Amino acid sequence: MKKEIDLLVIGAGPAGCSAAIYAVRAGVKTVIAGGSVPGGQLLQTNEIENYAGFVNPVGGFEIMDTMHKQCKRLGVEIVSEEIVKLEGHKTPFIATCASGTVYEAKSVIIAAGAKARWLGLPEEEHLRGKGVSACATCDGFFMRGKTVAVIGGGNTAFEDALFLSQFCPKVYLVHRREGFRADQVTVEQARKNPKIEFVLNAVPEKILGTEIVEGLRVKNVQSGETQDLAVSGVFVAIGAVPQTSFLKDSLVGLSDDGLVLADERTHTTLEGVFAAGDCADKHYRQAIIAAGTGAKAGIEAAAFINKHR
Ligand code: NAP
Repeated sequence: MKKEIDLLVIGAGPAGCSAAIYAVRAGVKTVIAGGSVPGGQLLQTNEIENYAGFVNPVGGFEIMDTMHKQCKRLGVEIVSEEIVKLEGHKTPFIATCASGTVYEAKSVIIAAGAKARWLGLPEEEHLRGKGVSACATCDGFFMRGKTVAVIGGGNTAFEDALFLSQFCPKVYLVHRREGFRADQVTVEQARKNPKIEFVLNAVPEKILGTEIVEGLRVKNVQSGETQDLAVSGVFVAIGAVPQTSFLKDSLVGLSDDGLVLADERTHTTLEGVFAAGDCADKHYRQAIIAAGTGAKAGIEAAAFINKHR
């Protein structure tokens, strides 16, 4: 089935919602294709304290639910469709969904976000869901009363460790060096938390256990010594990779690491196609910045569409 629309926004996180809000208010018929569970990474974020406009910490699900309701009130259609292909060298563009639905859109905004990066250990896949997870918010509950390890030194790892310390007696934070990417406030919170123990200059070498996780072998990168941590859960929090594989045969330029190449006005290498949020952000990857670049993309796409009417 082919549907003709003005604007297709790919992704229903803060970037996609913000883009759609700006576009629909400029008179553009807008559809957001949000994948099977529209909402992006914030759906897996327990609490957010640095999104301006909220006095108290707010749940990631709550923010996204509010944004989706705001979009719908303004007339944006949000569909649970996954885009698998984007074609066309000029407007209109053809976007094919996994369901077979095809959208013909005068303009497209790519706001597809990013997903968890994995360590690449052979056991990781086999033990996923059996103690290995990339989402503490989703799976932490199953680790109640158990000792766990979190891998990484960024904000996600620290926030996961703090979250898990609420119901785990001990949380190892395993990081490959001594410096952290996480902000200082969060690092200090973790340092003061008696349940969190830092295991630094250490890389995971093997996840132990056959049916369920029984431990984590880490190797000290300075001494070469290995140590087995007796844990029931391993939470991998080592960053994210952009969700842009559906663009590989398109004319939208991508960087070597898969980010959509876009200028400061969100224009990609293909005129009429714009990009916003984490799928095009090498440096910040913050919800509020995703929303900001989404707003830019919505303004730019609306101007493009209104010029080509
Ligand atoms: P990140 O900042 O990129 O940190 C990833 C961490 O994983 C780094 O410490 C990195 O080590 C480590 N790492 C990467 N590959 C590894 C590997 N193969 N083996 C072992 N360790 C590895 O990712 P993030 O923590 O997911 O955060 C992503 C973005 O979202 C950041 O901009 C962050 O500030 C933001 N964020 C913000 C909040 C918030 O403000 N509330 C919450 C979550 C995330 P190195 O440091 O040695 O490279």
